Amino acid sequence: MKDHYGRKINYMRISITDLCNLRCVYCMPEEGIEKHPHQKNLSFEEILDLIKAGVSLGVNKIRLTGGEPLVRHGIVDLVRRIGEIPGIEDLTMTTNGILLPKYAIDLKAAGLNRVNISLDTFDPVKFHEITRWGHLEDVFAGIAAAKAAGMHPIKINTVLIKGFNDDEIESFVNYTRDEAVYVRFIELMPLGESSGFAENKYLSNDEVLKRVPALTPLLIPDKTGPAEYYQLPGAKGRVGLINPISKHFCSECNRIRVTTDGKIKPCLHSDFEIDLVALHQAGMTYKEILLQAINKKPEKHHINEHEKQLLRNMNEIGG
Ligand code: SAM
Ligand code: SF4
Repeated sequence: MKDHYGRKINYMRISITDLCNLRCVYCMPEEGIEKHPHQKNLSFEEILDLIKAGVSLGVNKIRLTGGEPLVRHGIVDLVRRIGEIPGIEDLTMTTNGILLPKYAIDLKAAGLNRVNISLDTFDPVKFHEITRWGHLEDVFAGIAAAKAAGMHPIKINTVLIKGFNDDEIESFVNYTRDEAVYVRFIELMPLGESSGFAENKYLSNDEVLKRVPALTPLLIPDKTGPAEYYQLPGAKGRVGLINPISKHFCSECNRIRVTTDGKIKPCLHSDFEIDLVALHQAGMTYKEILLQAINKKPEKHHINEHEKQLLRNMNEIGG
């Protein structure tokens, strides 16, 4: 369906857990997340019913995210049940990749077409620093497992962080020369308890084009997501720039987000949320609630203006 501003909303991103096996400093506090007594994750049944309601309104693309979606118990079963819903054309996941060696083959067989894997550095020491305890080789094992399972294209999400990985821009771009992957640079956003980290570390993605002038823009006629794509001459892969801060892409926004605890976020960059569970208990159908959320999508975000710091942590929203 279309929202008030004529945007076709066909994409639902669902955070299925706020737990994670890493603690990236820009995403999650070190001690993890304290659960409030009344807080409850959406059950599989609730997630499936919500997706079915979304499909009836024109949703055809689902992304599972988190936290780390692969730590949710029963993940393969959930993927299979979503994949069986008629009308889902694209079922994807954003993951840190660590558990892909265990799950990639089963996930692919269950209907997961592809994955986005997060990776901010090629340096094992820096990887350990940014994730607070991760091991770089686990991510590469995850990338290899996704490839071996036939997931394509594999997209690497790289948050650009001033003074941390801007010296690796060329290495990330060069990674696309021989690997048929998409490396997508994402601008750092100030969110939740980790927003202090983002202070003074934001770098516009323009820096990527400045450092690698050989990148040539790709015109993608059926482009659906926010990334602007580029390519090195003769490269197998692509480089994407996702610029939520420097050039917001609100006029192309096609998505709604669902948090782990069942709040619908019409816009990532606003604290406004719709309480799915409470409204459903009060008698509204999921379809009615989704309609309300879609109609509440703002024309654009104001993150550079008054809404500087958002309350939710990214691991509850899912990116
Ligand atoms: N655990 C999975 C992962 O890391 O891919 C999925 C959830 S994670 C919240 C989803 C995406 O959000 C990741 O690519 C991560 O790098 C990105 N992200 C988290 N915090 C961010 C921030 N403050 N600014 C920009 N991107 C962020
Ligand atoms: Fe976990 Fe992903 Fe957040 Fe890193 S970005 S702490 S892997 S949820």
